[in-house]
Amino acid sequence: MPKKTSKRKSAAAKRRATQSTRGKFVYSFGGGKADGNGSQKALLGGKGANLHEMTRIGLPVPPGFTITTEVCTYYYEHKRSYPKSLAAEVDAALAKVELATGKKFGDRENPLLVSVRSGARDSMPGMMDTILNLGLNDATVEALAQRSGNPRWAWDCYRRFVQMFGDVVMGVQKIGKDDHEPFDEVMHDLKEEVGAKQDVDLSAKQLMELVRRFDALIQKRTGKKFPQDPRAQLWGAIGAVFGSWMNDRAIVYRRKYGIPHDWGTAVNVQTMVFGNLGDTSATGVAFTRDPATGEKTFYGDYLINAQGEDVVAGIRTPHPIAMLKDEMPHAHAALEKVRATLEKHFRDMQDFEFTIEDNKLYMLQTRNGKRTGMAAVRIAVDMVGEKLIDWKTAVMRVPADSLTQVLAPVFDRATREAAVKAGRLLCKGLNAGPGAASGKVVFNAEDAVERVHRGEKVLLARIETSPEDLRGMIAAEGILTARGGVSSHAALVARQMGKVCVAGASDIQIDYRARVMTVKGRVIKEGDYVSIDGTDGEVYEGELKTAPSQIVRVLITKQLAPEQSKLYQQFAKLMKWSDKVRRLGIRTNADQPDQAANAIAFGATGIGLCRTEHMFFGGDRIYAMREMILADSTDARQRALAKLLPFQREDFVGIFRAMKGFPVTIRTLDPPLHEFLPHDSETQRETAHKLGVSPEKVAARVNALHEANPMLGHRGCRLGIVFPEITEMQTRAIIEAAIQVQREGIKVRPEIMIVLVGFPKELQNQLEVVHRVAKQVMTEKKAKVKYAVGTMIEIPRGALRADAIAKDAEFFSFGTNDLTQTTLGMSRDDSGSFLPHYEELEIMKRNPFETIDRDGVGQLMQIAIERGRKTRRDLKVGICGEHGGDPNSVEFCHELGLNYVSCSPFRVPVARLAAAQAALKEGKKG
Ligand code: PEP
Ligand code: MG
Repeated sequence: MPKKTSKRKSAAAKRRATQSTRGKFVYSFGGGKADGNGSQKALLGGKGANLHEMTRIGLPVPPGFTITTEVCTYYYEHKRSYPKSLAAEVDAALAKVELATGKKFGDRENPLLVSVRSGARDSMPGMMDTILNLGLNDATVEALAQRSGNPRWAWDCYRRFVQMFGDVVMGVQKIGKDDHEPFDEVMHDLKEEVGAKQDVDLSAKQLMELVRRFDALIQKRTGKKFPQDPRAQLWGAIGAVFGSWMNDRAIVYRRKYGIPHDWGTAVNVQTMVFGNLGDTSATGVAFTRDPATGEKTFYGDYLINAQGEDVVAGIRTPHPIAMLKDEMPHAHAALEKVRATLEKHFRDMQDFEFTIEDNKLYMLQTRNGKRTGMAAVRIAVDMVGEKLIDWKTAVMRVPADSLTQVLAPVFDRATREAAVKAGRLLCKGLNAGPGAASGKVVFNAEDAVERVHRGEKVLLARIETSPEDLRGMIAAEGILTARGGVSSHAALVARQMGKVCVAGASDIQIDYRARVMTVKGRVIKEGDYVSIDGTDGEVYEGELKTAPSQIVRVLITKQLAPEQSKLYQQFAKLMKWSDKVRRLGIRTNADQPDQAANAIAFGATGIGLCRTEHMFFGGDRIYAMREMILADSTDARQRALAKLLPFQREDFVGIFRAMKGFPVTIRTLDPPLHEFLPHDSETQRETAHKLGVSPEKVAARVNALHEANPMLGHRGCRLGIVFPEITEMQTRAIIEAAIQVQREGIKVRPEIMIVLVGFPKELQNQLEVVHRVAKQVMTEKKAKVKYAVGTMIEIPRGALRADAIAKDAEFFSFGTNDLTQTTLGMSRDDSGSFLPHYEELEIMKRNPFETIDRDGVGQLMQIAIERGRKTRRDLKVGICGEHGGDPNSVEFCHELGLNYVSCSPFRVPVARLAAAQAALKEGKKG
């Protein structure tokens, strides 16, 4: 096996080698001319391509050159060696830089100094190495001192270079994890000796001594001298940058962000400019608009008399860019001009680095700036208004997922930063329900409800949640679980309710009895304040201040008029544009009238999944439900079901009213019955008392209903087949409610969905019950209601037998939570313990419970659609698993030709945008 791989590799390497020796490896830029351009990110890296582009459009970029990413790939395929022609190309490019700057590499009068920086196709901040001030040696440092008239500065540049080079290129680093950085140690000792408190207290002479000691350290540790020859320095630095592509942190970063290892990095060699030449020099980072709010203001920081690394190191506090207007008006005006040019040219918000050397501005980097969801919406819509982009580009610009941030309550930024600083960040889990929530922590649903009744704000922390916790989940500000993945009960219910949720925070141990949770040794008791950030999956100790989203205040709570919120108006515009192009319908998963109303406010046009079991937990309903389950005869079961009927009917009435004629897909009872039963002896006793039976009887029935594998057990349509009276009651409730609402003059469109069907006969069995009861109710009530009956496709057999099933089913809805679970043979509730390892090892690129596994589950969906529509050409097909709100999966559903996606109410805007993006992408392809 290994032989085979290496043979294959060497063939590929040979092929690439012959290709690349024909190619060009070095691209020059400077003086208004550039060999490359901004579209060549794959070849020149993101940083490189934009340096070329900025040069082309006349921005002040210090001259330099880019060694392509192909050289990096070559380097790793040829035992860390370079293509033959590279050296000559580098020499030629260097000569051009010398010509452009009038300086010479290694010159004793006017030496050229360069920076050597990495730059991959996608930015990998801080993951790879950078070397500054290269070209300094014992001779050129003197020239620098003389020309600048500032020997202290020249020697400081030199000592920084020796330190960086010694560390990055020559590998003089700490050995044990408790060691100090060796160069820092040498510097520290010298400072002690001469009584200097800070680095800046060292004189030129002392810095000279420091360089001597650094040299000695390098010699001692490596047995080699620090190279005085600038060309040797340059090649050392180039090798180190290529080498850093494979350092551990870069590998880990790429894995996390899905960047392929074979992309490689480019190397940018660029003339040094100095922001630390005195009070007329500075360095900074700026955004053309505010990346947090999207506001069109100039945003950024700078430090006077500093080098780039000082800004990052945070030793001194930088000034906001607005202050530059007073401190360096000339440079500020130049920067404002650059800002306008950048936006006009790149037509997107830019994040750029600059240096001011003796009042003259230089641009060192620009890229599309990262932004919050709120800023993404605002920038995209504003730019359409400014005619920088058209509305279709605006729709493509906003990452669909980022809309969840726009809808979620948020932690006040300053409060959060202060909390991190104060060490109150406890741990991280899955960001299951975006937003921010604070409350007194409680460990069970009853306590949550009780405290909320008393007017307290609570956060419900559970090891994992089950339908029994529903009331507590509704009452709580947020939900925190120690176990469970993205489609765990807690996660999906939280999303449906728009609740903040952090799931699977595995550093947390919860002791229900002792009413405490322990996080990395810290003990948090019931009633202590905990705050969670469901957007980032963070858990904090104590209370953090939050603010509700403006969109929610306009659409849901109606505390804000649309004209009072600019963000809302922009959001509404984006949604309107999205609706213009999307082909997919958008429905919602909702089982309460208020959820349905929220979803309509967010733009849903139907319910794709009403999980009827959630209706059995409110108030005293659970007892009627338990009575039904505990019944040992059909008669007794029917009596209990008769008690449930009015509750169900009332719920459906509320939902039909809220949906105002939009279709409502109602699923028949699905979960295994044991989920409704009391499991501890105290609740069993209480249930027995309520039902007037003995606790022993309750315990015996609970035992009898125990299943080893309930998810594959007596659930779904298997319940209605064994106990048809359940389906009878549910059908009656649906049709009676429909008739009642219809009589109120509101249109109703019920769609009854039979669940977990694998055999055509299962569906036929339940259809008979539904049609029989519906007919009966209509006769009784002397009314007619149009309704449809369809099925969920959520087990592979259902997909494979779709042609036969479609004979009876008027619609399909993919239950991709179960379809994923059953196709992969992977429990959706237990996969949290091994899926992270799978993702790390790249066995799976994404969590299949979050994003549809296109190659596996996706094939089954495709088969089901093809076969189903062969039988019934106009078969309506939707999806109601959690994937219905995942942008990547929405795109897949669009490609498959589904009619609609259904997702939780708060994800409706995400799905609208994702559906529009899928349609626009398809238009581009075609
Ligand atoms: C599904 O399986 O995808 C589904 C929607 O049903 P549930 O999550 O309720 O099992
Ligand atoms: Mg299911």
